[in-house]
Amino acid sequence: MEMGCVWMRRVSSGNALSALLVKPPYSVSSPSLLSFLHLKSPPISSVGFSPPSRLPLSTAACSSSAALVPDDEDSFSSSSPRLGSYGKSGIPVKRSKVLLKEMRYVELEKWVQMQGFRPSQAMMLWKRLYGNHIWAHCVDELEGLNKDFKRMLAEYAEFKALSLKGIRTAADGTKKILFSLEDGLVIETVIIPCDRGRNTVCVSSQVGCAMNCQFCYTGRMGLTRHLTAAEIVEQAVFARRLFSEEVGPISNVVFMGMGEPLHNVENVIQAAHIMVHEQGLHFSPRKVTVSTSGLVPQLKRFLHESNCALAVSLNATTDEVRNWIMPINRKYKLDLLLQTLREELHRKKNYKVLFEYVMLAGVNDSIEDAKRLIDLVQGIPCKINLISFNPHSGSQFRPTPEEKIIEFRNILAEGGCTVFLRLSRGDDQMAACGQLGKPGPLQAPLLRVPQEFQMALNAPA
Ligand code: SF4
Repeated sequence: MEMGCVWMRRVSSGNALSALLVKPPYSVSSPSLLSFLHLKSPPISSVGFSPPSRLPLSTAACSSSAALVPDDEDSFSSSSPRLGSYGKSGIPVKRSKVLLKEMRYVELEKWVQMQGFRPSQAMMLWKRLYGNHIWAHCVDELEGLNKDFKRMLAEYAEFKALSLKGIRTAADGTKKILFSLEDGLVIETVIIPCDRGRNTVCVSSQVGCAMNCQFCYTGRMGLTRHLTAAEIVEQAVFARRLFSEEVGPISNVVFMGMGEPLHNVENVIQAAHIMVHEQGLHFSPRKVTVSTSGLVPQLKRFLHESNCALAVSLNATTDEVRNWIMPINRKYKLDLLLQTLREELHRKKNYKVLFEYVMLAGVNDSIEDAKRLIDLVQGIPCKINLISFNPHSGSQFRPTPEEKIIEFRNILAEGGCTVFLRLSRGDDQMAACGQLGKPGPLQAPLLRVPQEFQMALNAPA
């Protein structure tokens, strides 16, 4: 098996072109075993993850036209197979074993039946993987299951997608969990305990992120790869397994960790579906929130295929500012994004989108911004979350002072908006919003600061 990813920066003179090159980490499944499993050996191209091998990364640092926005995000999200490849009947296969946590219940049931066992065995297995306070990680934890069934699982099923690497606890009780993936890459998951019993797990959906939001530490990493559905689901399973006793029930999931979830829309929808299954993890769909920076086609698909909640990271009230701080806006402008939401939410009953707005001093926190924001969200059933910016090393932005955030909040509330303030959590352990991951020496470019904001960024704190 090839291990790890290769990051390569290719520069062609004159054109300032560079690329991240990613090698698929998985090898082809064993043909003999596949035939035993009645699974078709997948073509090499569908084995391992199938995003394009190159993600455009401009080297033209400080050029406002040089955004790190993949031109082809559609091509490796909506239409590509998920990372685990598929055999006959759409059952996920990873090398010689099936990935249990990548399967929806109907897929698991089908596979169990194909192995000659009753559907009731599939339900018993499902409950031990996700429910009943077992959260099984291996066959030995499957009490009460038929011996032959367990033997078959030991041979042909993979239980784990993640290995625990470390846990860091912040002063406010927020916990950052580091997981190693099978190919040696590392992701981060955050547990946010809450006194009112509304404990939340914040899951990652990618290793790094291609979106290059200028205020985000993860964005500095660029994208290495998408996570599989199993790798996403298992973050929530681990969260319950590790911390349910200590912090109480974990009732909420937010897809706000490393990565742009809708860039990995196929696996994210699959993972969210598995998380809300009533006989399993049984999160309420309203308490599973998938966040996006504004990938419009994927956002539509998500709203059509999932009943989980949606958050849109807005962060600006003009295209000029959003083009700079969130380069995805150059592809999907504010108007298009908001009009799409207006139309899509019209046909959904009792559904509100959550707009997230990170407050950046002197950039997006003026009274005019607040008034524009009221106009922008007209006709969209929504709530607005104002988030205090969490500084990180190399960050050029500063947080808006608290009294100014409150003034901004009051203007929105007077304008008829439902608005909340989100306090910073876990920032002393780099576990707060926008602080996850570890950029290497090769980083996504900082874009040119528009003239009118240069003074604001250079102003003394
Ligand atoms: S804010 Fe989200 S979408 Fe933007 S770079 Fe960070 S992780 Fe990616």
